[in-house]
Amino acid sequence: MLEPNEALARILAAVPPPGREEVALDEAAGRVAAEALAAPLDLPSFDNSAVDGYALHAADARAACPGAPARLRLCERRPAGAGPAREVPAEACARLFTGWPVPPGADAVVMQEDTRVAPEEPGTVLVLQPVKPGENVRWRGEDVKRGARVVEAGERLTAGRIGLLAAMGCARVLVGRRPVAGLLATGSELREPGQPLGPGQIYESNRPALAALVHGAGAVPRRFPLVADTLDATRSALAEALAQCDAVVSSGGVSIGEPDFIKDALAELGGSLEFWRVAMRPGRPFVFGRWREKLLFGLPGNPVSAVVAFLLLVRPALLRWQGAGEIDLPAHPGVLAEPLANHGAYPHFLRVRVDAAGQVYSTGLQASHALGSLAAANGLVQVPPHTTLPRSSTVSVRRWF
Ligand code: AMP
Ligand code: MG
Repeated sequence: MLEPNEALARILAAVPPPGREEVALDEAAGRVAAEALAAPLDLPSFDNSAVDGYALHAADARAACPGAPARLRLCERRPAGAGPAREVPAEACARLFTGWPVPPGADAVVMQEDTRVAPEEPGTVLVLQPVKPGENVRWRGEDVKRGARVVEAGERLTAGRIGLLAAMGCARVLVGRRPVAGLLATGSELREPGQPLGPGQIYESNRPALAALVHGAGAVPRRFPLVADTLDATRSALAEALAQCDAVVSSGGVSIGEPDFIKDALAELGGSLEFWRVAMRPGRPFVFGRWREKLLFGLPGNPVSAVVAFLLLVRPALLRWQGAGEIDLPAHPGVLAEPLANHGAYPHFLRVRVDAAGQVYSTGLQASHALGSLAAANGLVQVPPHTTLPRSSTVSVRRWF
């Protein structure tokens, strides 16, 4: 049986190289940049004011105070975007507002609150506080220098990066193509939410949860109808999903002791079983197969197993497919507020909640059907076989939202 790391390495080796496409910046959230981008201009692109006030020579107001204000002649006012401002001579100032260019000659801006217009002389501004050279000026290029790399290939486009690209005049970006992941749920006991339940039947919950995870990984979920537990139904559903999608993420029909419809269906379609079973809990009966250039991820049916196996083995593959550099769940240190025990023979990925102070709590029943404790969790902690991690120990928490 493969260790989780080996299983992931085998999966990643089978992921095709990322395709690329150009998208509008508005549609780029969560997408993976396909090329590095350098700033085409300085940001800010001109020296400008950080406040509403008056541009001046700082030396003219060095000793200003309310009792002895500096008296500065007010230059002609030019609106924003009206072309190069005129030079501000010594003993003078120019009215400006936040973001307006600082005119030549001026080397500082005094904020409006520290000034008064001389009551008897509307053309004279009284500066009531001293000003240092450079005060309230946002210098050209102080944020980003022209030519600096602002995005690397493989980085996901966050809101901040999208804002930065827009500020640099970028309207479209080259990103990795998003793989389409078909979602199949097998099980004759499954019913669609919203339908009445007969005896022994349950609502299907894996496709909705997996669709959310696929979406979160930047890929495109495509949901297929429920699949009854027969080889025929499984084969035709799998054939349809493989034909329409880049990858198929199925759930159920891979456990020991029941007919292996997923593996048999894949074999009948001429696909290859790359491996089955991974030494981890939950999620051990995991199937990885290939059909032509498409990939099959056969997750166990138990809802917690399906989610955990997806997070550890499928999510990284979907991200790599888009060219992402960072493919693992983000991990942060946390401190156990209570012991975490694994009495089993495989590494156990326990569902935990980490609070704002970094204290880590088990979310309760650690069983592969326990959706309540999955829903309460925001992370996973890996506990090695036959190990109890004591209270107060520092652990790595893999965050998943
Ligand atoms: P299986 O892996 O098919 O043996 O299923 C294991 C357990 O998970 C059984 O209790 C199933 O009823 C349950 N299960 C399988 N698929 C789903 C699903 N899509 N939604 C909710 N429960 C499921
Ligand atoms: Mg089943």
